[in-house]
Amino acid sequence: MCDAFLNYKLLYAICGYIHINPGKNWDKLNSQEQDLFVHNLTAMELEITATLDYDHSQVCSGGVDIASLNLETLESKNIPGLYFAGEVIDLDGDCGGYNLTIAILTGILAGSSLGSEKDA
Ligand SMILES: Cc1cc2nc3c(=O)[nH]c(=O)nc-3n(C[C@H](O)[C@H](O)[C@H](O)COP(=O)(O)OP(=O)(O)OC[C@H]3O[C@@H](n4cnc5c(N)ncnc54)[C@H](O)[C@@H]3O)c2cc1C
Repeated sequence: MCDAFLNYKLLYAICGYIHINPGKNWDKLNSQEQDLFVHNLTAMELEITATLDYDHSQVCSGGVDIASLNLETLESKNIPGLYFAGEVIDLDGDCGGYNLTIAILTGILAGSSLGSEKDA
């Protein structure tokens, strides 16, 4: 089957699960195999049994308490002149670009706040 329409890892996982050769063309599958494939692609239920360790994590929760920061500048309320940005702040999102967005935007905010402080 062509893997152009599906992530190949998903294609191989589903084909392995239902014992279909992933190299077989779609029109060479019989209707039962096609139905089985579609069913597993759209309705497969998986139970998460464990997570990988820290070395494999994509984002960490926890960090500098947001309440301890001036949200206009990301300057610490406790230590004037100290700014925080990115994952070191206790702020994280699901996978999907949220964490890079947080890192970039808080970096811009903290960096530009520091710059304006110097200008003042
Ligand atoms: C495999 C993987 C995939 C990911 N995919 C996505 C994704 O698809 N979308 C998304 O939004 N987010 C994703 N993330 C999360 C995202 O990359 C992070 O949330 C983001 O990069 C955090 O940015 P940051 O600048 O806060 O920290 P980092 O990017 O971790 O940068 C911190 C930097 O500080 C340096 N450093 C550490 N200690 C010191 C020190 N003592 N002195 C000097 N430098 C130091 C480090 O080397 C590093 O370069 C992914 C993360 C991983 C690991």
